Amino acid sequence: MNDVVVVGGGPAGFTAAIYAARYKLNTLLITQDIGGQIAQSHKICNYPGFSDIDGVSLSNKMLQHVKDLDVPVAFETVNGVEKTENGFIVKTATNSYETKKVIFTGGTEHRHLGIPGEKEFAGKGVSYCATCDAAFFRDKKIAVIGGGDAAVKAALLLADFGEKVYVIYRKDHFFRAEPAWIELVEQNDKIEILFNEEITEIKGESIVTAVHLKNKDEDLAVDGVFVEIGVQPKLEFLDNLALEKNEGYIKVDSHQVTNVPGFFGAGDITNPVLKQIITAASQGAVAAYSAYNELTKER
Ligand code: NDP
Repeated sequence: MNDVVVVGGGPAGFTAAIYAARYKLNTLLITQDIGGQIAQSHKICNYPGFSDIDGVSLSNKMLQHVKDLDVPVAFETVNGVEKTENGFIVKTATNSYETKKVIFTGGTEHRHLGIPGEKEFAGKGVSYCATCDAAFFRDKKIAVIGGGDAAVKAALLLADFGEKVYVIYRKDHFFRAEPAWIELVEQNDKIEILFNEEITEIKGESIVTAVHLKNKDEDLAVDGVFVEIGVQPKLEFLDNLALEKNEGYIKVDSHQVTNVPGFFGAGDITNPVLKQIITAASQGAVAAYSAYNELTKER
Protein backbone atom coordinates (compact mmCIF):
# COMPACT_ATOMS: atom_id res chain seq x y z
CA MET A 1 0.00 0.00 0.00
CA ASN A 2 1.41 3.36 -1.07
CA ASP A 3 0.78 6.49 0.94
CA VAL A 4 0.54 8.54 -2.25
CA VAL A 5 0.33 7.76 -5.93
CA VAL A 6 1.14 10.76 -8.06
CA VAL A 7 -0.35 10.52 -11.54
CA GLY A 8 1.42 12.53 -14.24
CA GLY A 9 5.03 13.42 -14.92
CA GLY A 10 4.94 17.12 -15.65
CA PRO A 11 6.06 19.95 -13.34
CA ALA A 12 3.07 19.46 -11.01
CA GLY A 13 3.57 15.69 -10.70
CA PHE A 14 7.34 15.85 -10.33
CA THR A 15 7.07 18.52 -7.65
CA ALA A 16 4.35 16.60 -5.81
CA ALA A 17 6.57 13.50 -5.84
CA ILE A 18 9.60 15.45 -4.59
CA TYR A 19 7.65 17.01 -1.73
CA ALA A 20 5.88 13.77 -0.83
CA ALA A 21 9.21 11.94 -0.72
CA ARG A 22 10.69 14.59 1.53
CA TYR A 23 7.66 14.26 3.81
CA LYS A 24 8.78 10.61 3.99
CA LEU A 25 5.59 9.38 2.39
CA ASN A 26 5.70 6.06 0.60
CA THR A 27 5.30 7.52 -2.89
CA LEU A 28 4.89 6.16 -6.41
CA LEU A 29 4.86 8.30 -9.55
CA ILE A 30 2.98 6.93 -12.57
CA THR A 31 3.38 8.72 -15.86
CA GLN A 32 3.10 7.89 -19.53
CA ASP A 33 5.69 10.44 -20.59
CA ILE A 34 8.39 12.71 -19.22
CA GLY A 35 7.52 16.37 -18.82
CA GLY A 36 3.97 16.52 -20.17
CA GLN A 37 3.32 19.79 -22.01
CA ILE A 38 6.72 21.28 -21.22
CA ALA A 39 8.51 18.52 -23.12
CA GLN A 40 7.11 20.20 -26.22
CA SER A 41 8.53 23.61 -25.35
CA HIS A 42 11.79 24.34 -27.15
CA LYS A 43 12.68 27.30 -24.97
CA ILE A 44 11.84 28.10 -21.36
CA CYS A 45 13.05 31.45 -20.09
CA ASN A 46 10.77 32.22 -17.16
CA TYR A 47 11.31 29.48 -14.59
CA PRO A 48 13.47 31.01 -11.86
CA GLY A 49 17.04 29.78 -12.16
CA PHE A 50 16.53 28.80 -15.79
CA SER A 51 16.77 31.70 -18.22
CA ASP A 52 17.32 29.51 -21.28
CA ILE A 53 16.58 25.81 -21.21
CA ASP A 54 14.61 23.50 -23.45
CA GLY A 55 11.62 21.64 -22.07
CA VAL A 56 13.06 18.16 -22.49
CA SER A 57 16.20 19.07 -20.53
CA LEU A 58 14.21 20.69 -17.73
CA SER A 59 11.85 17.68 -17.59
CA ASN A 60 14.79 15.30 -17.36
CA LYS A 61 16.28 17.35 -14.52
CA MET A 62 12.97 17.18 -12.65
CA LEU A 63 12.70 13.42 -13.24
CA GLN A 64 16.28 12.95 -12.01
CA HIS A 65 15.42 14.92 -8.88
CA VAL A 66 12.51 12.54 -8.23
CA LYS A 67 14.73 9.50 -8.81
CA ASP A 68 17.45 10.88 -6.54
CA LEU A 69 14.86 10.76 -3.75
CA ASP A 70 14.30 7.05 -4.50
CA VAL A 71 10.73 7.55 -5.66
CA PRO A 72 9.82 4.65 -7.97
CA VAL A 73 8.52 5.76 -11.36
CA ALA A 74 6.17 3.56 -13.38
CA PHE A 75 6.02 4.52 -17.06
CA GLU A 76 2.44 3.48 -17.65
CA THR A 77 -0.85 5.07 -18.68
CA VAL A 78 -3.45 5.33 -15.95
CA ASN A 79 -6.81 4.27 -17.32
CA GLY A 80 -8.91 4.27 -14.16
CA VAL A 81 -9.04 5.04 -10.45
CA GLU A 82 -11.36 3.20 -8.08
CA LYS A 83 -12.33 4.28 -4.60
CA THR A 84 -11.87 1.61 -1.93
CA GLU A 85 -12.55 1.49 1.79
CA ASN A 86 -8.99 2.54 2.66
CA GLY A 87 -8.14 4.73 -0.29
CA PHE A 88 -7.88 4.03 -4.01
CA ILE A 89 -6.76 1.56 -6.62
CA VAL A 90 -5.00 3.24 -9.51
CA LYS A 91 -5.22 1.09 -12.63
CA THR A 92 -3.05 0.88 -15.72
CA ALA A 93 -3.25 -1.63 -18.57
CA THR A 94 -0.90 -3.98 -16.74
CA ASN A 95 -1.03 -3.10 -13.05
CA SER A 96 -3.22 -2.04 -10.13
CA TYR A 97 -1.64 0.11 -7.44
CA GLU A 98 -3.17 0.49 -3.99
CA THR A 99 -2.76 3.84 -2.31
CA LYS A 100 -4.18 5.91 0.51
CA LYS A 101 -4.06 9.18 -1.44
CA VAL A 102 -3.94 10.18 -5.09
CA ILE A 103 -2.43 13.37 -6.46
CA PHE A 104 -3.74 13.66 -10.00
CA THR A 105 -1.79 15.95 -12.33
CA GLY A 106 -2.50 14.55 -15.78
CA GLY A 107 -5.19 14.52 -18.33
CA THR A 108 -5.13 17.17 -21.03
CA GLU A 109 -5.08 16.56 -24.76
CA HIS A 110 -4.40 18.81 -27.73
CA ARG A 111 -7.37 20.75 -28.99
CA HIS A 112 -8.20 20.01 -32.61
CA LEU A 113 -9.56 22.37 -35.24
CA GLY A 114 -12.09 19.82 -36.41
CA ILE A 115 -11.89 20.92 -40.05
CA PRO A 116 -11.61 18.84 -43.23
CA GLY A 117 -8.06 17.68 -43.89
CA GLU A 118 -6.87 17.90 -40.27
CA LYS A 119 -7.20 14.18 -39.55
CA GLU A 120 -6.29 13.06 -43.05
CA PHE A 121 -3.00 14.97 -43.06
CA ALA A 122 -1.97 14.37 -39.43
CA GLY A 123 1.69 13.38 -39.67
CA LYS A 124 1.67 14.33 -43.37
CA GLY A 125 2.16 18.04 -42.82
CA VAL A 126 -0.21 18.59 -39.90
CA SER A 127 1.52 18.65 -36.53
CA TYR A 128 0.68 19.51 -32.92
CA CYS A 129 4.28 19.79 -31.73
CA ALA A 130 6.71 22.30 -33.20
CA THR A 131 9.54 21.12 -30.97
CA CYS A 132 9.14 17.57 -32.26
CA ASP A 133 8.62 18.32 -35.96
CA ALA A 134 10.17 21.71 -36.82
CA ALA A 135 13.26 20.14 -38.38
CA PHE A 136 11.12 18.38 -41.02
CA PHE A 137 10.11 21.75 -42.43
CA ARG A 138 13.49 23.15 -43.42
CA ASP A 139 13.06 25.79 -46.17
CA LYS A 140 9.30 25.14 -46.27
CA LYS A 141 6.26 27.38 -45.97
CA ILE A 142 4.46 26.82 -42.71
CA ALA A 143 1.18 27.94 -41.14
CA VAL A 144 0.82 28.18 -37.37
CA ILE A 145 -2.75 28.34 -36.10
CA GLY A 146 -3.47 30.06 -32.78
CA GLY A 147 -2.55 33.15 -30.82
CA GLY A 148 -1.40 32.00 -27.37
CA ASP A 149 2.08 31.40 -25.97
CA ALA A 150 2.33 28.06 -27.69
CA ALA A 151 1.53 29.53 -31.11
CA VAL A 152 3.97 32.44 -30.95
CA LYS A 153 6.74 30.24 -29.58
CA ALA A 154 6.12 27.65 -32.27
CA ALA A 155 6.30 30.40 -34.91
CA LEU A 156 9.68 31.54 -33.60
CA LEU A 157 11.12 28.04 -33.63
CA LEU A 158 9.69 27.27 -37.08
CA ALA A 159 11.18 30.49 -38.45
CA ASP A 160 14.61 29.07 -37.61
CA PHE A 161 13.94 26.24 -40.07
CA GLY A 162 11.31 27.30 -42.57
CA GLU A 163 11.42 29.77 -45.44
CA LYS A 164 8.22 31.52 -44.36
CA VAL A 165 5.89 31.21 -41.37
CA TYR A 166 2.31 32.49 -41.32
CA VAL A 167 0.68 32.90 -37.92
CA ILE A 168 -3.06 32.67 -38.47
CA TYR A 169 -5.05 34.05 -35.56
CA ARG A 170 -8.79 34.62 -35.33
CA LYS A 171 -8.57 37.82 -33.21
CA ASP A 172 -7.32 41.26 -34.28
CA HIS A 173 -4.30 41.33 -31.95
CA PHE A 174 -2.35 39.04 -29.64
CA PHE A 175 -3.51 39.30 -26.06
CA ARG A 176 -2.86 35.89 -24.58
CA ALA A 177 0.83 35.47 -25.36
CA GLU A 178 3.69 36.90 -23.33
CA PRO A 179 4.68 40.35 -24.71
CA ALA A 180 8.35 39.31 -24.85
CA TRP A 181 7.50 36.54 -27.36
CA ILE A 182 5.13 38.78 -29.32
CA GLU A 183 7.89 41.33 -29.80
CA LEU A 184 10.21 38.70 -31.23
CA VAL A 185 7.51 37.45 -33.59
CA GLU A 186 6.81 40.97 -34.82
CA GLN A 187 10.51 41.61 -35.43
CA ASN A 188 11.10 38.37 -37.34
CA ASP A 189 11.25 38.96 -41.12
CA LYS A 190 10.25 35.40 -41.91
CA ILE A 191 7.02 35.61 -39.92
CA GLU A 192 3.83 37.12 -41.31
CA ILE A 193 0.84 37.50 -39.02
CA LEU A 194 -2.67 37.11 -40.41
CA PHE A 195 -5.06 38.53 -37.82
CA ASN A 196 -8.84 38.14 -38.04
CA GLU A 197 -8.35 34.97 -40.03
CA GLU A 198 -9.21 31.30 -39.66
CA ILE A 199 -8.67 28.25 -41.79
CA THR A 200 -11.60 26.14 -42.91
CA GLU A 201 -9.77 23.33 -44.71
CA ILE A 202 -6.34 21.76 -44.99
CA LYS A 203 -5.70 20.67 -48.56
CA GLY A 204 -3.21 18.38 -50.21
CA GLU A 205 -2.69 15.12 -52.02
CA SER A 206 -0.29 12.78 -50.27
CA ILE A 207 0.98 15.68 -48.13
CA VAL A 208 -0.27 19.17 -47.23
CA THR A 209 -0.11 21.76 -50.02
CA ALA A 210 -2.42 24.57 -48.82
CA VAL A 211 -4.89 25.86 -46.27
CA HIS A 212 -8.10 27.66 -47.13
CA LEU A 213 -8.43 31.09 -45.51
CA LYS A 214 -12.00 31.79 -44.44
CA ASN A 215 -12.17 35.58 -44.66
CA LYS A 216 -9.92 36.09 -47.66
CA ASP A 217 -11.74 33.13 -49.22
CA GLU A 218 -8.58 31.92 -50.93
CA ASP A 219 -6.00 29.17 -50.60
CA LEU A 220 -2.64 29.87 -49.04
CA ALA A 221 0.12 27.57 -50.25
CA VAL A 222 1.91 25.90 -47.31
CA ASP A 223 3.78 22.65 -46.74
CA GLY A 224 2.98 22.36 -43.06
CA VAL A 225 0.29 23.30 -40.55
CA PHE A 226 1.06 23.52 -36.84
CA VAL A 227 -2.11 23.50 -34.77
CA GLU A 228 -1.23 25.36 -31.57
CA ILE A 229 -4.65 26.12 -30.12
CA GLY A 230 -4.20 24.86 -26.59
CA VAL A 231 -5.24 21.81 -24.68
CA GLN A 232 -8.46 20.52 -23.15
CA PRO A 233 -9.16 18.24 -20.21
CA LYS A 234 -9.49 14.52 -20.71
CA LEU A 235 -11.13 13.05 -17.66
CA GLU A 236 -13.81 10.64 -18.86
CA PHE A 237 -11.86 7.72 -17.45
CA LEU A 238 -12.43 9.15 -13.96
CA ASP A 239 -16.21 9.56 -14.33
CA ASN A 240 -16.85 6.85 -11.71
CA LEU A 241 -15.30 9.09 -9.01
CA ALA A 242 -17.90 11.83 -9.64
CA LEU A 243 -15.28 14.55 -9.35
CA GLU A 244 -16.70 18.03 -9.23
CA LYS A 245 -15.58 20.00 -12.28
CA ASN A 246 -15.32 23.54 -13.48
CA GLU A 247 -15.64 23.97 -17.25
CA GLY A 248 -14.47 20.39 -17.61
CA TYR A 249 -11.43 20.81 -15.34
CA ILE A 250 -11.07 19.33 -11.86
CA LYS A 251 -12.37 21.72 -9.21
CA VAL A 252 -9.93 22.19 -6.33
CA ASP A 253 -9.67 24.55 -3.39
CA SER A 254 -6.54 26.44 -2.39
CA HIS A 255 -5.22 23.27 -0.73
CA GLN A 256 -5.65 21.32 -4.01
CA VAL A 257 -8.42 19.34 -2.34
CA THR A 258 -11.22 17.99 -4.58
CA ASN A 259 -14.72 16.91 -3.56
CA VAL A 260 -13.45 13.29 -3.38
CA PRO A 261 -11.73 12.75 -0.01
CA GLY A 262 -8.10 11.71 -0.45
CA PHE A 263 -8.00 12.72 -4.13
CA PHE A 264 -6.02 15.88 -4.92
CA GLY A 265 -5.64 17.74 -8.19
CA ALA A 266 -2.72 19.88 -9.36
CA GLY A 267 -1.42 21.49 -12.53
CA ASP A 268 -3.19 22.36 -15.79
CA ILE A 269 -5.98 19.87 -15.16
CA THR A 270 -7.28 22.20 -12.43
CA ASN A 271 -7.39 25.12 -14.87
CA PRO A 272 -5.23 27.57 -12.88
CA VAL A 273 -5.45 31.27 -13.73
CA LEU A 274 -1.91 31.08 -15.12
CA LYS A 275 -0.87 27.79 -16.70
CA GLN A 276 2.87 27.92 -16.23
CA ILE A 277 5.59 25.62 -14.94
CA ILE A 278 5.91 27.60 -11.76
CA THR A 279 2.19 27.53 -10.97
CA ALA A 280 1.96 23.80 -11.74
CA ALA A 281 4.98 23.12 -9.53
CA SER A 282 3.48 25.24 -6.77
CA GLN A 283 0.20 23.34 -6.89
CA GLY A 284 2.07 20.04 -6.84
CA ALA A 285 3.89 21.11 -3.68
CA VAL A 286 0.66 22.19 -1.99
CA ALA A 287 -1.06 18.92 -2.97
CA ALA A 288 1.75 16.89 -1.39
CA TYR A 289 1.56 19.02 1.74
CA SER A 290 -2.20 18.51 1.96
CA ALA A 291 -1.85 14.75 1.48
CA TYR A 292 0.83 14.67 4.17
CA ASN A 293 -1.39 16.60 6.60
CA GLU A 294 -4.31 14.25 6.04
CA LEU A 295 -2.14 11.16 6.46
CA THR A 296 -0.60 12.54 9.64
CA LYS A 297 -4.05 13.14 11.14
CA GLU A 298 -5.21 9.66 10.13
CA ARG A 299 -2.25 7.89 11.72
P1 NDP B 1 -4.01 29.13 -24.99
O1 NDP B 1 -5.29 28.55 -24.49
O2 NDP B 1 -3.32 30.18 -24.25
O3 NDP B 1 -4.26 29.72 -26.47
C1 NDP B 1 -4.94 29.00 -27.42
C2 NDP B 1 -5.02 29.85 -28.67
O4 NDP B 1 -5.65 29.10 -29.69
C3 NDP B 1 -5.83 31.11 -28.46
O5 NDP B 1 -5.23 32.13 -29.17
C4 NDP B 1 -7.19 30.75 -29.06
O6 NDP B 1 -7.84 31.82 -29.64
C5 NDP B 1 -6.79 29.81 -30.17
N1 NDP B 1 -7.84 28.84 -30.45
C6 NDP B 1 -8.48 28.01 -29.58
N2 NDP B 1 -9.36 27.24 -30.23
C7 NDP B 1 -9.27 27.57 -31.54
C8 NDP B 1 -9.93 27.14 -32.71
N3 NDP B 1 -10.85 26.18 -32.69
N4 NDP B 1 -9.59 27.73 -33.87
C9 NDP B 1 -8.66 28.69 -33.94
N5 NDP B 1 -8.00 29.14 -32.86
C10 NDP B 1 -8.30 28.60 -31.68
O7 NDP B 1 -3.12 27.84 -25.29
P2 NDP B 1 -1.53 27.68 -25.39
O8 NDP B 1 -1.30 26.26 -25.78
O9 NDP B 1 -0.95 28.72 -26.24
O10 NDP B 1 -1.06 27.85 -23.93
C11 NDP B 1 -1.63 27.05 -22.87
C12 NDP B 1 -1.09 27.53 -21.55
O11 NDP B 1 0.28 27.19 -21.46
C13 NDP B 1 -1.20 29.04 -21.42
O12 NDP B 1 -1.60 29.40 -20.16
C14 NDP B 1 0.20 29.51 -21.73
O13 NDP B 1 0.53 30.70 -21.08
C15 NDP B 1 1.06 28.33 -21.26
N6 NDP B 1 2.28 28.23 -22.07
C16 NDP B 1 3.42 28.82 -21.58
C17 NDP B 1 4.58 28.77 -22.29
C18 NDP B 1 5.82 29.45 -21.76
O14 NDP B 1 6.81 29.45 -22.39
N7 NDP B 1 5.80 30.04 -20.59
C19 NDP B 1 4.66 28.07 -23.58
C20 NDP B 1 3.41 27.49 -24.01
C21 NDP B 1 2.27 27.59 -23.26
P3 NDP B 1 -8.58 32.96 -28.75
O15 NDP B 1 -7.48 33.80 -28.21
O16 NDP B 1 -9.41 33.65 -29.76
O17 NDP B 1 -9.37 32.23 -27.72
